[in-house]
Amino acid sequence: MLAELDVLSEFRAEVRQWCEANVVPGWREALEACSDDQAVAFEREWFTTLHAAGYAAPHWAHEWGGSESSLAEQIVLFQELSRADAPRASLAFIGLYHTYATLTHAGSAEQKARHLPAILDGTVWCQGFSEPEAGSDLAGLRTRAVRDGDDFVVNGQKIWSSGAAHADWCLLLARTDPDAPKRKGISYFLLDMRTPGVEVRPIRQASGGAEFCELFLTDVRVPAENLVGAENDGWRIAQATLSAERGPTILDLAERLRTGFEMIVDTARRSTVPGGGPALDDPEIRDRLVRCHTDVEVLNLLCLKMVENLLRRGGVGPEASIVKVCYSELLQRLTELGVELSGVDAHVLISKPRASGWISGEWLVDHITSWEWTIAGGTNEIQRNLISERVLGLPREPGMD
Ligand SMILES: Cc1cc2nc3c(=O)[nH]c(=O)nc-3n(C[C@H](O)[C@H](O)[C@H](O)COP(=O)(O)OP(=O)(O)OC[C@H]3O[C@@H](n4cnc5c(N)ncnc54)[C@H](O)[C@@H]3O)c2cc1C
Repeated sequence: MLAELDVLSEFRAEVRQWCEANVVPGWREALEACSDDQAVAFEREWFTTLHAAGYAAPHWAHEWGGSESSLAEQIVLFQELSRADAPRASLAFIGLYHTYATLTHAGSAEQKARHLPAILDGTVWCQGFSEPEAGSDLAGLRTRAVRDGDDFVVNGQKIWSSGAAHADWCLLLARTDPDAPKRKGISYFLLDMRTPGVEVRPIRQASGGAEFCELFLTDVRVPAENLVGAENDGWRIAQATLSAERGPTILDLAERLRTGFEMIVDTARRSTVPGGGPALDDPEIRDRLVRCHTDVEVLNLLCLKMVENLLRRGGVGPEASIVKVCYSELLQRLTELGVELSGVDAHVLISKPRASGWISGEWLVDHITSWEWTIAGGTNEIQRNLISERVLGLPREPGMD
């Protein structure tokens, strides 16, 4: 894989040049002064710019408007966007990865033709899987969908739905057969967020942002043509959605930790330790910096290994759980060091959090936000369970069969 990356120097130069021309310096500062609506408009515009260059959907097939880039090209693209500290198109993420993976796996020809090109035109998707009593134990979800003529009528509540306040469509799991074993009675729907009976309530987070929402669904009529795959086959199809977030996109996150580490060193350069000496002369700080640097590089190698395995086997293995645990806990250590190095400044110079990049150099906000990553996409406790069972061969947790 590393050798493949070397031969892509021409593509790397092309992306680097494009970033120089298109990543507007000071975009983070500009976002701090604007309203939430302006921030969303900025993200949408950035997505259009990325798409025009062919960089928004590198993993998509040509048939649906993607660039069909090799994994090596995708890595180079993520590396260069990260090095240029380019914004992220966070709002487009679920559409680009989760919806694409789901529809190409199980969608009908009509569903693919209707929804995939629309994603590249800016349609925003959210995911309505988790419920107040069904997160780690997702199969225990209780939202009900009952067939009524040409529609299903849906009632229930979803929670933690990222980007739902701005979403046009939602990937929805609901129970269609309450008498079947819990994984067998779930169906997968595409929900138009403008349907009567859909209420979206943003959740205010500790960081000050409100990126995810509760969804209340009351007698929502979903046309049967929006059922993905067969009725009661939703659990199996949901695995395609979930594995999309365990795929090569982790390379983007890992690469951005390198940029984050440079920001930490920059903060350290400007910091002093109690007593007034430069932070960079302090042996303990130097030691922690070296450890963080090593961890960032090891994480990037782990990610490459995971992607190599993905290429060979065509599926994500248990190493995705190892990468997830290492990534999220390293993000916490890095941002914590940022807070410590910033001292009082970290507590008084707080600007608005922005979803466009989660290491922003606003270390306190970055640190608070970093805790999301040990929960999202399956908590680290659940990942450790998976590692113990699938890597170490330990027995399954009682009651989880
Ligand atoms: C930033 C973010 C974005 C998200 N976006 C979405 C989204 O767009 N759509 C969506 O549907 N969901 C989303 N989620 C929800 C996410 O998938 C759930 O929060 C996650 O699966 C955990 O579920 P829970 O919050 O219900 O916690 P619970 O499952 O109630 O877990 C509570 C605690 O118990 C522990 N625990 C539970 N079961 C076990 C076990 N068997 N062994 C050991 N420990 C266990 C957990 O690790 C955790 O510490 C998002 C979450 C976050 C943080």
